[in-house]
Amino acid sequence: MKLIGKAGTKESRAPGSKAMSHMTTLTATVRCLTIPSFSFDHHVRIPDIGANLTDPVFRGRYRGKQGHPDDFDQMLERAKRANVSDIIVTGGSLTESREAVKLAGNYPGFLYCTVGCHPTRCLEFEQRGDPDQYYADLLATVNADAARGVVVAVGECGLDYDRLQFCPKEVQLKYFEKQFDLAERTGLPMFLHNRNTGSDFVDLMRRNRPRVSNGVVHSFTGTLAELRELLALDLYIGINGCSMKTADNIEVMRAVPIDRLMLETDAPWCDIRPTHASYPYLTRPLGPDAEDWEPATFESKKKERFVDGAMVKGRNEPCTMQDVLRVVAAARQIPVAELAGQVYRNTCRVFFPKRNLD
Ligand SMILES: [Zn+2]
Repeated sequence: MKLIGKAGTKESRAPGSKAMSHMTTLTATVRCLTIPSFSFDHHVRIPDIGANLTDPVFRGRYRGKQGHPDDFDQMLERAKRANVSDIIVTGGSLTESREAVKLAGNYPGFLYCTVGCHPTRCLEFEQRGDPDQYYADLLATVNADAARGVVVAVGECGLDYDRLQFCPKEVQLKYFEKQFDLAERTGLPMFLHNRNTGSDFVDLMRRNRPRVSNGVVHSFTGTLAELRELLALDLYIGINGCSMKTADNIEVMRAVPIDRLMLETDAPWCDIRPTHASYPYLTRPLGPDAEDWEPATFESKKKERFVDGAMVKGRNEPCTMQDVLRVVAAARQIPVAELAGQVYRNTCRVFFPKRNLD
């Protein structure tokens, strides 16, 4: 990934802004050290609501082979440098959800997770011969001691008709619906996936909506009409690099009401690429309103040329949240800090309701 290279940072700013931005960065650092965190609401905090951090690529393993050393902690360090405040690790199956709980438990206050079964994995409910047991195991994963304060949603669940080769439609429908039981029983919001399902997703969602507290449709790539249907169901919309590939995508993203918007990377997938309609927004100069915020810069190397501390090309990771934030802010023509503040509040309302936002 070379998204955060020269064009997107200091070099592209208006003349004279460089020194100023260094000063404000310094001031912000001092403030962080002296004032309790709740008081600097202007400080950019970016929660990543969807990162698949149980993927072996974050341990340096690609298709079963060790491509480079495990750089998981370095990856998290970069995320912190990029002002990522929270990462919700996606659980895509029972096994993955258990791993996610364990992983998130190792980084309290920074990593959280979901527990559920992705539509393409729903055959797993039946493969072991006892779907009720699979459900009971998911519920036990949410209710385990280790999950307290760690599990913030049921999911990733939903429907995906682009990948029926992994799981037939009827099976997806059956176990998506089953996961509403899990959300209802645990009181957790839902982390939802919907891909090319006609009206099926919305129909099922509408039928079950009263049973669940809240939900976000992540990695949204739908039309304006689909957006309106989801908003009518009082759902939130998750935007990542895949949600902004085309000019039409960007238009739809701009139509998401700001109090319904959440941001994510979907790492290691969905990186913003030079061929995407989103890319030019990354190279636009930051406006004067962004003086308090400066994107961090990271080196990026091919995995074969791995270097400690550098990102790995082609492997998206949470530090690129700053790029998602920047594109959305530029496309919607609002200050980065204002957008970040609103997205943070939206995220807390759904996933961290106990946080004090005053
Ligand atoms: Zn998804």
